[in-house]
Amino acid sequence: MSKATFTILKQCQNCGEMFEAQKRTTRFCSHRCASQNYKLRKRLEAKKKVEANTKKQNPTRYKKKAVSLELIKTKEFITVRELAVLLGCGKDTIYRMVKNNEIKAVNLSKRLTRIRRKDVENLFESENTNTQLQPLKLEDCYTMEQITSKYNTSRNTIYSLASKHNVRKIKNGKFTYYSKVDIDKLYEI
Ligand SMILES: [Zn+2]
Repeated sequence: MSKATFTILKQCQNCGEMFEAQKRTTRFCSHRCASQNYKLRKRLEAKKKVEANTKKQNPTRYKKKAVSLELIKTKEFITVRELAVLLGCGKDTIYRMVKNNEIKAVNLSKRLTRIRRKDVENLFESENTNTQLQPLKLEDCYTMEQITSKYNTSRNTIYSLASKHNVRKIKNGKFTYYSKVDIDKLYEI
């Protein structure tokens, strides 16, 4: 008795050659093609997994923050959010400062505010000035005699320099005392 053989013509899903298959479910012409295709699928799966993990490890939120801090240093105009990151405060604080004219800002549209980085730097400069404007104490001052003898200069020179450079002073009766720091700064060079 001869064994009945059933064959079907199929196209190999790996090499594309036509072949005679014994079963309808056979997809490859040879063991070699089946093995090649299996390896290829595994490689693609592994690649997909790596891509998925990379996405998980680098959420957009993290990327944005890191980039903006670097960008702030190079940009002439920055956003409210960037300034908030720079100053380490909330956006509400920035909006309040803008509203109170503590920071100059340009409203390009209702929801698009830009701040010039230079103005932010000026903000820190004026903050420094404010620190200097803390109440002057008598022990931090020179008398006119001390200045004229220390710097070998005339009273008139001191008067005009002090007035020109806004040297802080305390008036006590007919005596005027001048801030040591401010006077020393004038003669630093
Ligand atoms: Zn094949």
